[in-house]
Amino acid sequence: MTIQSDILEVNEEKTSVYGPVHSWRVGSSLGIDLLLETSTCSFNCIYCQLGDIQLKTAERKVYVPTAQVEHDLRRSRWEEADIITLSGSGEPTLALNLAEAIHMIKEYTHKPVMVLTNATLLHDPAVIRDLQEADVVACKLDASTEAGLKQMNRPVAGVTLEKIISGIKNLKANYSGKLALQCMFMPTNLKEVELLADIINNIQPDEVQLNTPKRPYPLEWHLDSRGNHGEKAYPTRELRVVSPPQADEIEDLLREKTRVPILSIYKK
Ligand code: SF4
Repeated sequence: MTIQSDILEVNEEKTSVYGPVHSWRVGSSLGIDLLLETSTCSFNCIYCQLGDIQLKTAERKVYVPTAQVEHDLRRSRWEEADIITLSGSGEPTLALNLAEAIHMIKEYTHKPVMVLTNATLLHDPAVIRDLQEADVVACKLDASTEAGLKQMNRPVAGVTLEKIISGIKNLKANYSGKLALQCMFMPTNLKEVELLADIINNIQPDEVQLNTPKRPYPLEWHLDSRGNHGEKAYPTRELRVVSPPQADEIEDLLREKTRVPILSIYKK
């Protein structure tokens, strides 16, 4: 593998690699941030651990050159990680060098790679192609109605629930790795559960991960918010979460209606 730091102007202050951080779903996870400069996403979720998204966009482009990621990866504690996760400062499928970065990471670390995506770009065949080398793709799905999508995820113009669902089905049909759905629940979207069960049945993912926001909402953007930030690192606002009994109810209902394996943050 070639290291290109001799020809690359590496940004030594900001690193595109962070952690490892502990994830209740996958254990020790090294984070890769292909956005980095600021929070960048086609969603602006009401619970986002990055706070209010600074750059709301659906534009694919190279935000961080792969050579910078490689440079940062080599200096990281990657050996300690069970898995390498592409997530970071926003939506990783916005990065045009996604496939190149996954390929480089796998070649260098020989560790499994997971991509956390909001699934807004999965209607694009180029994005489906880019995801082929990932071992796990976890797609966010918090809503079962257009109104719920707008309320929870506040997408950029042109993003609809119908497009997201057909995008996830497109991935399911054209991908041999593990497909998980990540469903974030707050009191706001509890009413979406029943219909969500039908959508899950329609998609047939390998797994559903039930979550509720355990990290407070930062009042301003900080690069540190990519990791497991604590309440006191900078000003934050507490978010309303679902209680363990409410999570049990959701889990029971989804189990009964879908028969898809379910993981719950309250049963880690
Ligand atoms: S999709 Fe992820 S990064 Fe984007 S706003 Fe939602 S939680 Fe934040």
